[in-house]
Amino acid sequence: MAYQTINPFNNETVKTFPTLTDDEIKNLVNQADACYKQWRKTDFATRRKVMKKAASILRDKKAEFARLVTLEMGKLIAEAEGEVDLTADIFDYYADNAEQFLAPEKLTPSDGRKAYVEHDSVGIILCVEPWNFPYYQLVRVAATNLMTGNVVMVKHASIVPQCAAAFEKLLLDAGAPKGAYTNLYASTDQVSKLITDRRIRGVAVTGSEKAGSVVAGKAGESLKKSTMELGGSDAFIVLEDADLDKAVQWGLWGRMNNTGQCCVAAKRFIVVEAIADKFLERLKECFSKLTMGDPMDRSTTLGPLSSESAAKDLAAQTAEAIKHGAKAVIGGKRPDRPGAFMEATILTNITKDNPVFYKEFFGPVAMFFRVPDEKAAIELANDSEFGLGGSVFSQDIERAKRVASQIDTGMVFINRPTWTTPDLPFGGVKHSGYGRELAKDGILEFANRKLIYIEN
Ligand code: NAP
Repeated sequence: MAYQTINPFNNETVKTFPTLTDDEIKNLVNQADACYKQWRKTDFATRRKVMKKAASILRDKKAEFARLVTLEMGKLIAEAEGEVDLTADIFDYYADNAEQFLAPEKLTPSDGRKAYVEHDSVGIILCVEPWNFPYYQLVRVAATNLMTGNVVMVKHASIVPQCAAAFEKLLLDAGAPKGAYTNLYASTDQVSKLITDRRIRGVAVTGSEKAGSVVAGKAGESLKKSTMELGGSDAFIVLEDADLDKAVQWGLWGRMNNTGQCCVAAKRFIVVEAIADKFLERLKECFSKLTMGDPMDRSTTLGPLSSESAAKDLAAQTAEAIKHGAKAVIGGKRPDRPGAFMEATILTNITKDNPVFYKEFFGPVAMFFRVPDEKAAIELANDSEFGLGGSVFSQDIERAKRVASQIDTGMVFINRPTWTTPDLPFGGVKHSGYGRELAKDGILEFANRKLIYIEN
């Protein structure tokens, strides 16, 4: 896809960027490789300084960074500012903790000798990233790898080229040498070719199942380690003893944050019969109060989707669900206005033979299921190809913990939707991918855990 900024609020093309030529990519890989040879030898203090500076630039220029996000993919401006803050926090987190995370680990071999594992760099990490959190997705791979001594080359989503360039400039302005972080306006074919370059030592993807399986396949053929952060269809389980006010408020946020375009959004509401009518009525009321409009306007609570094609696809998926027996108790179609908008929608009566049953709705469309009891809730939650996040609402924390333990996903949050902070490991199982980003787990993914053994 061509790299271009199209404002999804009005579908106007703002700016187009040329895709790199093969020769330009070759030169950038040479530059990254040359940089790696120096960067891997830098000490933690040098790396830390770059991270800290990047965090402070982001905070100083929050409005500027946030505006680009809203312009390119339509995120509500206050949420875009929140993303800039979170990105800065992640830079700070790894600046403060990477040295401790990567410290040598002493071993006690049974032969009585001395041994330890040190955490070394591996080389260039190629990253493929999505548009839904245009900076947060990048910092997850940049801060971890740069602190380890790796360098990164990043193919960002083609609809957020200005955010991609702004992030590269941020790191240069923060003092990173040229080649430490490289933005690539590359085609998917060029990415496939690049994976085979022997200097690329790892591949990290965040995106759809489809992109993940293609890139993971290429990485596998070249024997490159990969991490995959893919889609999800998180269950939001409400048990009969839940605090209803809290569950409804979090349900609204969990589905509508980022206009529903979160991998860990609450996508399947699974509510125990005893509380189902009340919950549905209240969630519907909350959805009905959302105000559609310009995402730059702070009074807007339902912005456009990231692109016209995203809105078209979501509307088609919703129509397909309805054609096969689902009922839209609110919304269900696109509104009669320009821009990439979709109505806030709740679908009920989704049976297992409905083609959307196992699909991810990436936007403001909630699937609602009523179940007789806790056991049925767990079964339905696990009846999914995905296994990213999920949540359980109950005032009995021990009960909620027992339910959480039985859900086959990488993350379960009790009494709130799945979310992210720098110090919580993030990732999934099943078709949601493998590997972890953030926290200590995230920084170890592309570190060489090298054993040193001492005979005497
Ligand atoms: P997408 O279409 O897979 O795009 C993600 C990235 O992959 C983009 O940079 C895209 O480039 C690139 N890409 C697509 N096909 C490729 C291929 N064959 N080879 C190389 N690169 C390829 O996903 P999306 O629709 O933008 O993002 C939404 C998806 O990401 C959802 O499924 C969501 O759940 C998931 N997601 C997961 C996480 C997580 O941490 N688990 C976080 C956020 C989002 P172009 O833009 O040029 O097509």
